[in-house]
Amino acid sequence: MAIKTGTPVLKVAIVGSGPGGLATALAMRDVPGVEATIYERALVLREVGAGLSISQNTWNVLELLGVADSLTSGHPTITVLNMNGQTGEELHRFEKPSASPRTPIRTQRTALQAALLAHIPKDSIQLGKKLLKLDDLGVSGVRLTFADCSTTIADLVVGADGIRSVVRDCVWPDYRLNFTGTTIWRVLLPVDAIKDLDPRFLITSWWHGPTTHVYFSPVGEGMWEIAARAWQDPTIHGASKVSWGTPVENVIVESNFIQYLPQVKEALERVPKGEWREFAAFSGPKLATLTGWNNRVVLVGDSSHALSGAFGSGAGFAMEDGWVLAQALASSNNDLSKALPLFDKIRVPYYTRMYAHLDNEAKRRAQHLSRFVEPSDAERVRSKVIKAGGDMQWIYGNDIGKVWRESTAVVA
Ligand SMILES: Cc1cc2nc3c(=O)[nH]c(=O)nc-3n(C[C@H](O)[C@H](O)[C@H](O)COP(=O)(O)OP(=O)(O)OC[C@H]3O[C@@H](n4cnc5c(N)ncnc54)[C@H](O)[C@@H]3O)c2cc1C
Repeated sequence: MAIKTGTPVLKVAIVGSGPGGLATALAMRDVPGVEATIYERALVLREVGAGLSISQNTWNVLELLGVADSLTSGHPTITVLNMNGQTGEELHRFEKPSASPRTPIRTQRTALQAALLAHIPKDSIQLGKKLLKLDDLGVSGVRLTFADCSTTIADLVVGADGIRSVVRDCVWPDYRLNFTGTTIWRVLLPVDAIKDLDPRFLITSWWHGPTTHVYFSPVGEGMWEIAARAWQDPTIHGASKVSWGTPVENVIVESNFIQYLPQVKEALERVPKGEWREFAAFSGPKLATLTGWNNRVVLVGDSSHALSGAFGSGAGFAMEDGWVLAQALASSNNDLSKALPLFDKIRVPYYTRMYAHLDNEAKRRAQHLSRFVEPSDAERVRSKVIKAGGDMQWIYGNDIGKVWRESTAVVA
């Protein structure tokens, strides 16, 4: 795109190459005057964590990024079951409307990463660049210092470095994450390894216990995902929990699900040794602003709202952030004092609504259970089923292009 006369050249440093960092770099390619580089700590680009749901909101932003047609593999998640994992009772069956422009899918994280990377020039990503600290140089910009002792100076730093963000730690030093009590174990294995066990395993399904659940879904390309979760009181079990994608012994995972149906336990037992990865879920409080240091730093994705994948759509949120940030820069002719407040104005209320929704859900569940003197396992299981439906359209049907048009129409 041609640069308008008077458009300042803006050097942007994006820290992190997850969905948020990649989408930000991709969207910024269309912003005149912006020179964006991604700094990623990993030496090779790889994804951990098995599968990812792509609902209409995520398809919408992928369309805007020009990437949707590159994401070609995945399992359609038109039907989603919620089951009692101990009795086999079907608690809820959600049939998504088939009229959506694109089919919702469960895909492999690597498939999303490959689709994004296909549109990004290799020389705009620097690997082996672990950010250690930022220094505010005032009008001269922000200095980034990496673990290999190299430094660079940028006009704008985008913190796309995930839930344990170093960018956030530097600019919001009092921000604290807490262990939620939930541990997640994830793995991919061939569908052929489990398909004889139960036909319902070939439908995306949640199998619940009172404080645990097991999520099963095909993810395309002949692969099948298990994401198993267990909650324990974080005040008792939380102290040493830091795992994120670390290998864990099969027996540890299996021991959390001994009350489940035989076929569910058998599926867990068929996971080859050494394949399970453990993730401890952390969350942190809502930020009142996602921009800092006089509009020279901005947070996108998990760094901006530490909710530990609560809505199963964090990659979508991260990409929406990146796309909105690029539009804000383009519409303000790279004037950071206009672009970053506009970004905040659009994204902060959205994340505020997510935090409020989670609080209300927790209250609703507690209220439901308080009606029983001693709730049975079945009652406790029923109380935790999230009935994804019309009321969650503000998440799963979010059209970020429309949000942008409406927000800027009000501004104009
Ligand atoms: C169990 C679970 C299930 C989930 N399911 C879904 C789902 O179905 N759908 C969905 O959309 N989302 C899902 N999510 C959420 C999704 O994984 C995240 O929201 C998404 O990956 C966030 O993207 P991001 O780019 O902000 O951060 P990340 O994906 O965490 O990427 C951060 C990047 O920054 C790099 N980095 C970190 N620190 C530094 C540093 N100091 N210097 C340089 N680089 C650094 C990391 O190496 C990484 O590449 C799930 C999350 C969890 C935990």
